[in-house]
Amino acid sequence: MSSGLNIFVLVKQVPDQGSKAGINPDGTIDRAKAKRMLNPFDRFALQAALHAKKNYGGKVSAISMGPPPAVEILLECLEHGVDDAYLLSDRRLAASDTLATAFALFKTVAHVGKPDLVFCGLQTTDGDTAQVGPQLAERMGLPQITYCEDFSIEGNKVHGRRIIEGGYQKVVSEMPLLITVANSYHPLEYKSFRGAWRVQRLARNEEELKKYIHTVDLDLVGADPERTGLKGSPTIVAATEKVGEIGGNCRMHEGQSIDHLVKDVVKETNLAQFMTV
Ligand SMILES: Cc1cc2nc3c(=O)[nH]c(=O)nc-3n(C[C@H](O)[C@H](O)[C@H](O)COP(=O)(O)OP(=O)(O)OC[C@H]3O[C@@H](n4cnc5c(N)ncnc54)[C@H](O)[C@@H]3O)c2cc1C
Repeated sequence: MSSGLNIFVLVKQVPDQGSKAGINPDGTIDRAKAKRMLNPFDRFALQAALHAKKNYGGKVSAISMGPPPAVEILLECLEHGVDDAYLLSDRRLAASDTLATAFALFKTVAHVGKPDLVFCGLQTTDGDTAQVGPQLAERMGLPQITYCEDFSIEGNKVHGRRIIEGGYQKVVSEMPLLITVANSYHPLEYKSFRGAWRVQRLARNEEELKKYIHTVDLDLVGADPERTGLKGSPTIVAATEKVGEIGGNCRMHEGQSIDHLVKDVVKETNLAQFMTV
């Protein structure tokens, strides 16, 4: 492969777990109220895609489906070193379940090109189904290595190590291939100075930015709107209940000696009753 691998990584913007997202009356997440972040599981997929490029050569394209603010995570991907990015954004996608999402992503991937490798995260922290990767592979007619925590490439073959209960399994597959990356893969490295500088420069020039982040809609990728959104989603959310808030109140103790700080915290949190000294 003289021009190297054509690598795609699928990334989703999710509500920040520490922020207070509400639930709409229909059971969906009220995303407008939540802060946003790159799905933590997709950080491993991104690192795997960047490793594949670094070790075997090629180009990485990041692909996301979501509302316009999802461009933020694509900028983040550019800062980390992806070459270009695609955002599928269309009001008709609202209320898509995993079947509709995988269909829309499949059409977007086909619009972008023919990948050798497609990387997905294991799951998301909001939908949390872990269905989209395998469904996408199925639609694309690709073999898949799920729960993959390490891989190497020899010729046209990918040797992957996937987690199974109580151990791991070594598998080999030919490319093209879809890989869902386990969170025991290498953590995402820091953004490169060059990448961050490039994005800062791009962010100042909308026309220049459009050369790297392409926003597409259902018509452009040739996806039938009847097969996306509520119409294309056979899943019904019967009920969603909020059982608790992640995070809590935090007070910083600073500016004194360690001894003093520890005593302060013990007193404030009423920990003394559990201590023997
Ligand atoms: C009836 C119903 C209505 C819904 N309505 C809405 C709604 O209005 N708005 C809404 O945002 N969600 C909605 N959802 C949730 C939506 O279906 C899921 O968020 C979406 O299908 C992805 O599933 P997941 O988050 O479980 O992804 P998973 O299957 O857990 O994700 C696995 C991997 O697939 C890739 N991936 C998943 N989603 C995307 C994406 N969007 N872009 C790029 N890569 C991706 C990532 O690599 C990710 O790590 C609805 C769900 C149902 C069942």
